[in-house]
Amino acid sequence: MNTRKRILVTGAGGFIGHHLVGRLKADGHWVRGVDIKYPEYEASAADQFEILDLRKADNCLLATRGGIDEVYNLAADMGGIGYITAFHADISRNNILINAQMLEAARQNEVKRFLFSSSACVYAQSKQKNPEVTPLCEADAFPADPEPGYGWEKLFAEELCRYYFKDYGFETRIVRFHNVYGPLGTYDGGKEKAPAAISRKVALAQNGGQIEVWGDGEQTRSFMYVDDCVEGLIRIMASDCRDALNLGTDELVTINGLVDMIAKIADKKLNKVHNLSGPQGVRGRNSDNSMLRRVLGWEPSIRLEQGLAVTYRWIESEVRKSPKYASAASPVLAEVR
Ligand code: NAD
Repeated sequence: MNTRKRILVTGAGGFIGHHLVGRLKADGHWVRGVDIKYPEYEASAADQFEILDLRKADNCLLATRGGIDEVYNLAADMGGIGYITAFHADISRNNILINAQMLEAARQNEVKRFLFSSSACVYAQSKQKNPEVTPLCEADAFPADPEPGYGWEKLFAEELCRYYFKDYGFETRIVRFHNVYGPLGTYDGGKEKAPAAISRKVALAQNGGQIEVWGDGEQTRSFMYVDDCVEGLIRIMASDCRDALNLGTDELVTINGLVDMIAKIADKKLNKVHNLSGPQGVRGRNSDNSMLRRVLGWEPSIRLEQGLAVTYRWIESEVRKSPKYASAASPVLAEVR
């Protein structure tokens, strides 16, 4: 039986999309990558890589042309907490355009399956007020009270996927990522997320120096290493589950704890300076993986310390070779979504 598929990955120039393309190629598939930019840190393994702005309907039709079996729709305007709290209108408009038009183009071009990358930001804010948060199960997205902007547009696009199955029988899969980290991801410029931002700042700090943390650092999150994320994506695409599924770990850590872990990996002693006016997102967020385990018989298992060691070493080597940081002292800020 020929199991080689024709697969489109949108957002293939981005962090998760780039890793996914590499894995799909290693699995023997034909892959088209689409993005508005090429991957920043190494060349894409895709058979075709096209620069297309997916906010335009014609470009979505182009991207999905030619007998594509599966679409992993990862393209999105997104970033860490500083970014998603600052740009509600841009993010919402851009992502609504991408998601609605990608769904419709994929349907028109008779794609067999469409996976939408949603986010834990869809969960009701009222259920995330405590750092010792009860892990969020899929039903906790309703009654709706998501993160303004980014969370609302993700939640609506989830609904749209459901409507496309109900009205057209179009096969959709919905993945709610909890923070993903790993090498080859954005680590500066304002769109980076907590593990990358903290790794960069630890790499730049002198031993015995300071690191500024947004909030009191007692806000909690769980973080998933990118290899687990890619494995989960492929398994969810292959599953029969059309309902939204969490994809994350349930290893809860405070942001202060995350800073300590990375400082330990770097073998540095750092003093945290808490910036209480910095954006910090919800107070606590963790993934309940019961449904994921039930559907897939699998869940992410790479320990945070293990994944952070690889991530930190990569960011440290990037920072070291970047002329931008040649004379940097320790301008340190830590963000978390
Ligand atoms: P990323 O920013 O690295 O990748 C997204 C890619 O989409 C970028 O390369 C960007 O250039 C591309 N893109 C943006 N606008 C586009 C447009 N108009 N046309 C074509 N491409 C466009 O982000 P990522 O971390 O790889 O995230 C991938 C997906 O997972 C996104 O949908 C994101 O919302 C979701 N997600 C990620 C996380 C995480 O922790 N990384 C958490 C929750 C959800």
